[in-house]
Amino acid sequence: MAHTPMMVQYLSIKEQYKDAFLLFRLGDFYEMFFEDAERASQLLEITLTSRAGDGENRIPMCGVPHHSAQGYIETLVSKGYKVAICEQVEDPKMTKGVVKREVVQLVTPGTITQGKALDGKTNHYLAATTQESAGYALAYLDVTTGEATAMMVDGDERALLNQLLAYNIKELVVADSLYHTLVEQAATMGIVLSIANERMADEQVAPFVIDVPLYMQQACALLLSYVMQTQMRALSHLQTFTYNEATNFLRIDTNSKRNLELIQSIRGGDTKGTLLWLVDETVTAMGGRKLKQWMHQPLASKRLIEQRQQFVGDFLDEFFVRAELQDLLKKVYDLERLAGRVAFGSVGGRDLAQLRDSLRQVPHIQHQLQQANSAVLQQFGANLDACADIEAFLASAITDQPPLTIKEGDVIRDGYNVRLDELRDASRNGKDWIAQLEQRERDITGVKNLKIGYNRIFGYYIELTKSHVQHADLTRYERKQTLANAERYITQELKEKEALILNAQEESLELEYQLFVEIRETMKGYIPRVQALAAQLSELDVYMSFAYIAEKYHFVKPTFHNGRAMHIINGRHPVVEKMLGKQTYVPNDCVLEEERNMYLITGPNMSGKSTYMRQVALIIVLAQMGSYVPADEAVLPITDQIFTRIGAADDVASGQSTFMVEMMESQHAIMHATKNSLMLFDEIGRGTSTYDGMSLAQAMMEYIHEEIGANTLFSTHYHELTALEDVLPRLTNVHVAAAEQDGKVVFLHKVKPGAADQSYGIHVAELAQLPQPILARARVLLTSFEAQSGDVQVIEKIVEKPVEVIVEKPVEVIVERVVEKPVVQDDAQQLSLFSEEGLTPQ
Ligand code: ADP
Repeated sequence: MAHTPMMVQYLSIKEQYKDAFLLFRLGDFYEMFFEDAERASQLLEITLTSRAGDGENRIPMCGVPHHSAQGYIETLVSKGYKVAICEQVEDPKMTKGVVKREVVQLVTPGTITQGKALDGKTNHYLAATTQESAGYALAYLDVTTGEATAMMVDGDERALLNQLLAYNIKELVVADSLYHTLVEQAATMGIVLSIANERMADEQVAPFVIDVPLYMQQACALLLSYVMQTQMRALSHLQTFTYNEATNFLRIDTNSKRNLELIQSIRGGDTKGTLLWLVDETVTAMGGRKLKQWMHQPLASKRLIEQRQQFVGDFLDEFFVRAELQDLLKKVYDLERLAGRVAFGSVGGRDLAQLRDSLRQVPHIQHQLQQANSAVLQQFGANLDACADIEAFLASAITDQPPLTIKEGDVIRDGYNVRLDELRDASRNGKDWIAQLEQRERDITGVKNLKIGYNRIFGYYIELTKSHVQHADLTRYERKQTLANAERYITQELKEKEALILNAQEESLELEYQLFVEIRETMKGYIPRVQALAAQLSELDVYMSFAYIAEKYHFVKPTFHNGRAMHIINGRHPVVEKMLGKQTYVPNDCVLEEERNMYLITGPNMSGKSTYMRQVALIIVLAQMGSYVPADEAVLPITDQIFTRIGAADDVASGQSTFMVEMMESQHAIMHATKNSLMLFDEIGRGTSTYDGMSLAQAMMEYIHEEIGANTLFSTHYHELTALEDVLPRLTNVHVAAAEQDGKVVFLHKVKPGAADQSYGIHVAELAQLPQPILARARVLLTSFEAQSGDVQVIEKIVEKPVEVIVEKPVEVIVERVVEKPVVQDDAQQLSLFSEEGLTPQ
């Protein structure tokens, strides 16, 4: 026996979707067959059955009801699979033989448009890439909102994949040629690699890429082609690609974003404890997404930053306006995603009602902005397109509270369409008539509890309880159904009226559906305006969030200058401060001068070195996002890039050792940094033997000093390196102070000039309650090591080899052991550069 015609149809469609689960519509179910069925039954924990196949073999199959299919589709997609949805595209009643079926959508990890995968405050991107001479051209877009971006990623495929991770991108579209280069590494990072089969015509792509440099348009074309290929419909909400030229932004590589815990915490997943977590007080999902985008790409233009600051400052002065506006914004739904659903044709009555109700808030928002004293806010309000015509259209068309589905009726408002009103009248009048009939029949029969009911199978009926049946005159009644204690009847009159009512009802439902489809089409024309409005409202939301944060955590407005100097007075790490409480947190200065812009930071473990370095970076990030910053005063340069080498967890994914990762990150930083960058190097060389590590640390410092000139914070526990201050004029020694009380270490968390005392390690060990004999022995050993000249030789060894890159003047360190005094006493006689409080300039 050969396959049935339906199975032949199945197999020919499956042939085109080999890499996807094919959900094959059969009546009220989506069925899967063969291997699809075997794997899906496991993944979805549903029963595997089988049907007769060709000859002896039975065909494995499993299915899910179509009304609950969405959840199953989401599950498969969230596990990284693709799902092809194959529908019956003609009415089975109208056809002989096999119903025509077609795949109407390919749902993939990057293109899923609904469900749990979509967190409101996170963009859900799909990306495409091509390899170019300068690195990878990366195009990405959010199918749910239509936003599209193109950018270059410098570096190798690791840099590319890391960039994808930073944006939480789950699917990457490539041409055949790149597939094999990337597939393995992508898989280890949980990124699905896809190939775009059909290519969109150039003239179709052209309008989307007008702002994108020619050599990057290929990636955009790939991306658009894949979107068309999977969605199989015109998507009128797709926006033209924004070209993000790297130099317009403060660039922070993916590792540094992670090290600094900007958006993801170092442990991954959880966002608690990140900078984003702290500063996100947006009240709309759109605002949340915008804030996140801004944090991914802070600005690098003084003018643009100051524009944002203006809004924040004005909102700070407008407490009441802000409170009102936030209340109004809370009533605004996710306009971007609603616009997306309009484009997809998946918008329901409820969505349109949400859109309408959101638009209703705009005049109030404008009114509030007019109340502000700030001309900038007034202007912003005046420039908003309130989309009043769209609101009016929806108000006339859609009922106040439409039901979830569009086939039940009650979606279109009375008065919108004359024919619909007539049909509704007919069915409503009919219902009134039935009510009157009920009363009449009660009077005639004398049965008070006679009632007229309706069910789908029998239509309208007159119901009498058994006890009344014997007494009533039932000659006009025709028995229809017998229940346990009642009989149901119809009459000629009732039958005729029923036909009228039901026809009117059926016709009205059909008409409503048609009208709704028309409304949906009309709405497509309005998408760009709704998107423009969404963009403005989300900006407003972020500015207010900045203002709120500034007020709540006592941030100040940073000022920018064109040099390299950086004066942060009483800066704080906002997240650590929040965790510890404002009373406990010790603020610190960071004063880098134009020609003296490197700190070598010493201090015992746990004294706060790494917190201090991160705090400087976070202040720069916040400042260049346009936010105020956690400090008493901040005068800042425009930083082009931030590099961090901060001891983080092993890079498990790549199988690299900690030390290798450390060196790779250092290499990356050193190769890419400029004099306008900020470099944070925490404990360089810790992962190898002492001499080795110290040599590397010194060589790197010298190189940065001579060749790069970036603002640099370098922490170390190699105390010997503090001698470099004498030979590297840009370098200043600072230490994080600790004090001794009763023979115990007390961390002061205060950054002070000069080098730290070396012996705190043992005190810390004491704090950790290591046994006394070990501590005593360690003290003895330390004294004897100090007496030896070993350390000195180490430094000699380093400087005896001239550093190759510094051709003109090999650095020589005067071999001398730094005299150590207890830190506490040190503080009285500081460099004139610093105040007694800390590093404040005099
Ligand atoms: P290190 O890098 O020197 O080992 P950390 O920066 O990790 O030290 O800081 C250790 C702990 O000290 C932090 O977890 C934090 O609780 C506390 N700490 C750091 N800086 C400060 C500060 N400025 N004020 C108060 N507590 C701080």
